[in-house]
Amino acid sequence: MKIPREHPRYLSLKERHKLVEGYRDGVTALAGLIAHGRGEAFDYLIGEKTIPPAVNAIKAGVAALLLADSPVISVNGNTAALCPTEIVELSKIVGAKIEINLFYRSQDRIKKIREILIKNGADEVYGVTPTKEISGISSERRWADKDGIYSSDVVLVPLEDGDRTEALVNSGKKVIAIDLNPLSRTSLTASITIVDNVTRAVPIMIKIAEEMRGWDNSELRRVLASFDNYKNLREVLLAIKTRLEEMDFPLQ
Ligand code: ATP
Repeated sequence: MKIPREHPRYLSLKERHKLVEGYRDGVTALAGLIAHGRGEAFDYLIGEKTIPPAVNAIKAGVAALLLADSPVISVNGNTAALCPTEIVELSKIVGAKIEINLFYRSQDRIKKIREILIKNGADEVYGVTPTKEISGISSERRWADKDGIYSSDVVLVPLEDGDRTEALVNSGKKVIAIDLNPLSRTSLTASITIVDNVTRAVPIMIKIAEEMRGWDNSELRRVLASFDNYKNLREVLLAIKTRLEEMDFPLQ
């Protein structure tokens, strides 16, 4: 389907189209479409743009990835359908592995997501035949590659569920979430929560990582140490509140 560029909801329609195609191709799960809808609702509330607290979280997240010994980016069906090129680019800049992790896990979906990532430049994709389990997760998301997420110290989880975020944090890992819902269990449990659309956040992470990878570790540590996730989430809620209070009609 061709979406006219001048359509006022062009970007949103394009994202939906990618997910619908992803579903038809067996990459995105049906429930992934619903999860996207939940995200879209929150995107309206933040104004469909990257707000300052998200930029602060992105800086902290990039610092954590650059300082990590063994960082991993976790990829699910929605992320693979929405921004595979950017995920691969980010992984190369920060030196992170990429691991597939699915709630609705099937070898067929894993194979398809792996193909997308490889087609977009990934050299290696973990999580195809994982042998380890992260304790505290009952779903299929418990599976972890022994050389990937299982032995990682920092994990980036775009569009995650709260159970796995909590279990990863409990297993001693630093968890960076990208989640449009500042009230989700994921957002509240992660070490660093980037409240933004994954399609906007990852390109900004790439830009910031290009700049920050030239920094000393002491500077990166300073950025990380000055970040407080609850404080940042409060700033997100305040930004939403202020935006709603200041809205006038006709809406702009
Ligand atoms: P939790 O278990 O953390 O409370 P949840 O039950 O909402 O969250 P899921 O159903 O897995 O978890 O939903 C995934 C999350 O991803 C939702 O919170 C939604 O806001 C978010 N989300 C969906 N699409 C996007 C997107 N494009 N960018 C960022 N976040 C998104």
